[in-house]
Amino acid sequence: MESWNYEVFWKEAVSQIKNSISKEEFTMWFNNILYCSSSENMIVLSVPSNFFMDQIKQRYLTFITDTMEELSGNRITVSFTVKKNSSEKKDSLSAEKKTRQNSLKTEEEFPKKHPDLREDYSFENFVIGENNSFAANAALAISNNPGKAYNPFLIYGGVGLGKTHLLQAIGHAIYEKSEAKKKIVFVTAESFTNEFVNSLQKNKPHLFKNKYRTVDLLLVDDIHFFQNKEGLQEELFHTFNALYGSKKQMVFTCDRPVSELKNITDRMKSRFEMGLNVELNPPNFETRFAILKNKVESLGITISDDILELIAQNITSNVRDIESALIKLIAYAELVNKKITKEIAQQQLVDVFTTSKQSNFTIDTIQKKVAEYFNLSHIDLRGRKRTKAVAFPRQIAMYIARELTEYSTTEIGSDFGGRDHTTVMHAIQKIEGSMKSDPTMEPVINNIIRSIKEQSSKT
Ligand code: ADP
Ligand code: MG
Repeated sequence: MESWNYEVFWKEAVSQIKNSISKEEFTMWFNNILYCSSSENMIVLSVPSNFFMDQIKQRYLTFITDTMEELSGNRITVSFTVKKNSSEKKDSLSAEKKTRQNSLKTEEEFPKKHPDLREDYSFENFVIGENNSFAANAALAISNNPGKAYNPFLIYGGVGLGKTHLLQAIGHAIYEKSEAKKKIVFVTAESFTNEFVNSLQKNKPHLFKNKYRTVDLLLVDDIHFFQNKEGLQEELFHTFNALYGSKKQMVFTCDRPVSELKNITDRMKSRFEMGLNVELNPPNFETRFAILKNKVESLGITISDDILELIAQNITSNVRDIESALIKLIAYAELVNKKITKEIAQQQLVDVFTTSKQSNFTIDTIQKKVAEYFNLSHIDLRGRKRTKAVAFPRQIAMYIARELTEYSTTEIGSDFGGRDHTTVMHAIQKIEGSMKSDPTMEPVINNIIRSIKEQSSKT
């Protein structure tokens, strides 16, 4: 009898993951997975709890299986066994094991599930607040009336604010409603590009054309990736026209307003801007709290409101950071078999809270620190003076504001004495240019940035 051992493939897959995620994330998830055994086309790993199992499946399972397939030439099924930390057997969190039952049932229960869409990115799981209600309602309208209400629909905003979630929610809703399954394609701009390049390399451009020009619903995530890609834009332009002409709905997401994309042809920009463009903003406290509440409920876990409040108060940047703080806390509690108290939450999240604060710089702090560096008053930076002594530091401050914050050039302009966004864009280009031509510039800018970070971590 042959004895199977896939441990070496598992180890290699792990080391590849290690290189592609942060050290903290790696330690949290992978230090707690152990190799158990192998049988024919199957590997068994042990994890400390069901919560871990669910998280690992959701986050890494595809990557692990794909990597092991590449390495071994076999499709190896990964299965998990839960080995609880034996020290304390107290039921740490009153997990109702709801999630697991759900995830086991999903395949039979939802035969309508679209394979390319993440199951949890649905409208049901999207919490509506003042920051996103316009976008969410437009998305619902489009799902009810694809190709008619607004075409194309484009959602823009900073990272972790729910762009991909809403985009996929539209996909789910239309897919569930369509009787004869419509051709619904979700693709990231990056894989769209890769597919296009591959089709050219293989001398089969028609395959690409046939695929994309005949879809019923096209969802493209992160179109800022198309910047600087001329050939691709040409192809996309034709795809767009074909779909638009036959009234097929298109939805795009982008990390900034279309007007701020660089190196995208004007005709492509004007097409992106044709239908409806809506911005997603960071959520306020109430919405952050509601999102956390919703998340713990769907995980089937009980955490007291004062702890959720603590997270909602301290993490203001975006929803992704809020979710990962919560997950970190739950994972910790499951590992050590402890009930989460406010003290534990404080202790465990101290790093998360401070880095989140640091990335939340105000334009005011930036102006003050730049002014201090150049011996000016920060009022000057906001004022109208155009002397070189003021104009150059002002441009530096604008540049840093764009680097350190999520504000758009329009918002930055308005904080600099109501200047136009083109002035801000010009300033940014100017500083980028001088950083290239003048080797003394970068250290100056880095010094100022450091002082801003120090200042912000104190408050
Ligand atoms: P983006 O694409 O804008 O970077 P994502 O759509 O990936 O952001 O969202 C990041 C995470 O936050 C996802 O897990 C998503 O489900 C969650 N999220 C964002 N907004 C909401 C919301 N309004 N309600 C519930 N979850 C949200
Ligand atoms: Mg996204």
